[in-house]
Amino acid sequence: METISEMFGCMVFNDNVMKARLPKETYRALRRTMTIGKRLDPAVANIVATAMKDWAVEQGATHFTHWFQPMTGVTAEKHDSFISPDGDSNVIMEFSGKELIKGEPDASSFPSGGLRSTFEARGYTTWDPTSYAFIKDRTLCIPTAFCSYSGEALDKKTPLLRSMEALNRQALRVLKLFGRDDVTRVTTTVGAEQEYFLVDKELYAKRKDLIFTGRTLFGAKPPKGQDLEDHYFGALRPRVSAYMQDLDAELWKLGVLAKTKHNEVAPAQHELAPIFTTTNIACDHNQLTMEVMKKVADRHGLTCILHEKPFAGVNGSGKHNNWSICTDTGINLLEPGSSPHDNAQFLLFLCAVIKAVDEHQDLLRISVASAGNDHRLGANEAPPAIVSMFLGSELTEILKSIENGTAYDEKARTELRVGVHVLPRFPQDTTDRNRTSPFAFTGNKFEFRMLGSNFSIAGPNIVLNTIVADALDQYATELEGAEDFTTALNVLIRRTIGDHKRIIFNGNNYDASWVEEAERRGLLNLKSTAEALPHFVDPKNLALFTKHKVFTETEMYSRCEILQESYCKVLNIEALTMLDIVKKEIMPAVFSYMKDLCSMAVEKRAAFPDFPCESETALLSKLSALTDCLYKKTDVLDAALLGAKECCGMQKLSMYYRESVFTAMQELRAVADELETLVGEKYWPYPTYEALLFSV
Ligand code: ADP
Ligand code: MG
Repeated sequence: METISEMFGCMVFNDNVMKARLPKETYRALRRTMTIGKRLDPAVANIVATAMKDWAVEQGATHFTHWFQPMTGVTAEKHDSFISPDGDSNVIMEFSGKELIKGEPDASSFPSGGLRSTFEARGYTTWDPTSYAFIKDRTLCIPTAFCSYSGEALDKKTPLLRSMEALNRQALRVLKLFGRDDVTRVTTTVGAEQEYFLVDKELYAKRKDLIFTGRTLFGAKPPKGQDLEDHYFGALRPRVSAYMQDLDAELWKLGVLAKTKHNEVAPAQHELAPIFTTTNIACDHNQLTMEVMKKVADRHGLTCILHEKPFAGVNGSGKHNNWSICTDTGINLLEPGSSPHDNAQFLLFLCAVIKAVDEHQDLLRISVASAGNDHRLGANEAPPAIVSMFLGSELTEILKSIENGTAYDEKARTELRVGVHVLPRFPQDTTDRNRTSPFAFTGNKFEFRMLGSNFSIAGPNIVLNTIVADALDQYATELEGAEDFTTALNVLIRRTIGDHKRIIFNGNNYDASWVEEAERRGLLNLKSTAEALPHFVDPKNLALFTKHKVFTETEMYSRCEILQESYCKVLNIEALTMLDIVKKEIMPAVFSYMKDLCSMAVEKRAAFPDFPCESETALLSKLSALTDCLYKKTDVLDAALLGAKECCGMQKLSMYYRESVFTAMQELRAVADELETLVGEKYWPYPTYEALLFSV
């Protein structure tokens, strides 16, 4: 059997393979392209392509594809085979530098928000050499960016790379002020913890709602849910354990650093955490992880559910985006230092994040907005829809004393100045962490916890990188012009703490009183996706993204429209699926149960005229009243859907879906779920929550 280290990355055209297979000069040229973004010479590209193809063919690959991340949120690929006629009725395996670097998928049906008029429907893909090529299903996958012919980004990778560039530019300016001339590149790093559910494949196949919408649209609460919290970190059941081992192996082959796995709070819920890496690669890897999770589940007779809220009344699934900033000299800029000089630098970067999060709460909120995630955020679980930051009591105290110029502890001087004092190292202790905070400092990184499990992490990281880049930009400009660096730095840090401390909240974010407190502090509370999305194109946001060249205005308007449209489409599909299930499955099931009850009562009466039929009559009248009500609620939902046709413009339409359609859906569900508790189990048309959650 091959060892794990032999297996790890065996399907990746990584640095080791490149070093072994490329001529020295080519390897060096490619490295330059990868690290400093230098354009690749076509002659070099040809050599790389041939080496890549030879390697891939040896691993059994027959096809190649430009792998990209359109605005649909999933990855896309179009496969071409390597074969090419040799003019002698034979074929040879070929792959050119041109094919490596540029592709033209017929991509007219990917969402573009009006960016690509159909007459120039083609977009093109370009190789992103900062992310390694890999083999999946006998296909060489080349990570690429996807753009329109006029150069607008049609994908999630392009703006992510641009935002990393923006942060690099500004962080380098700041580091220069601290005399860090050895640093030539700053990148952000991410480790994305991924939550998911596993259910039995056969049961899944019996639920139209899961199949069409990824979540259950109906389902009464089982007698036992997550009340006992006995699932959390509990022992893995054999079937789950076999799945996880297989999943790890598949991910390792693809070079994904899958590290920890455990059960989550909800029954049938689990989590996978990778070791962090560069944001761009973390994003590719998370997309791959989600894909492999589903594929491997299928082999085990399971279905992996990545929806943010598959089951009402049971915790939903999120994704924790652990984020930090790292230099090419290996320094984590969010790690408190061991000298006063390092600490001043740490504090400056910390302040940049505090300022960024406070000034751009709207963008962080928008970056995690989706129909699915609306069921979590602000719905008494996961973090609320209000963005705030957890720093922990120790760091908060330090900031307070800096702001007031008072002593943090007796060892400190009365007049505390930045950089004079050595900050304590923050223990990376999991026990006292605030799990309710949407944005928590965890010792040497921030954990952004509002992401939905189904998300591409690109969007939230585009925002994070850009808003922090902007804060650093302002800091650099101020400090570069300062007469005395240390004095200016002190002023700046103090001012930031004073101006932005309202965003720091170390208490319980689920508590109802926090909503009021947050309002007093003037923090934003954008409750739903429909309310949040329009703010993406607020003037301040247009100015921010264009200034840092992350998005053009056109790209922003188009993205906003794509997101709003997709929100409406999701709700529309859910509503139609509900109507279908009620009319074709639930009503017939209830009727056949009622019919049996009726005939039974009639027969009973005939055989035993003296016996009362109280229970039958009572149950029948309840069922009859509820089915009437159910029927009326389908009319209401039908009418709500018709009303959507009257709405003009995406903003109105998405608000309409939120207010009218969604409300009608909830009312319909309530009645159906009550019926489920009254109808005999063998009559009910689809597997119950109990079956779904406790069968694996
Ligand atoms: P916990 O499991 O308690 O949330 P861990 O320290 O195990 O915390 O880390 C969780 C995630 O954070 C992992 O995916 C890890 O790789 C990632 N992580 C750790 N350090 C960094 C960093 N400097 N930048 C980005 N992610 C990081
Ligand atoms: Mg975590």
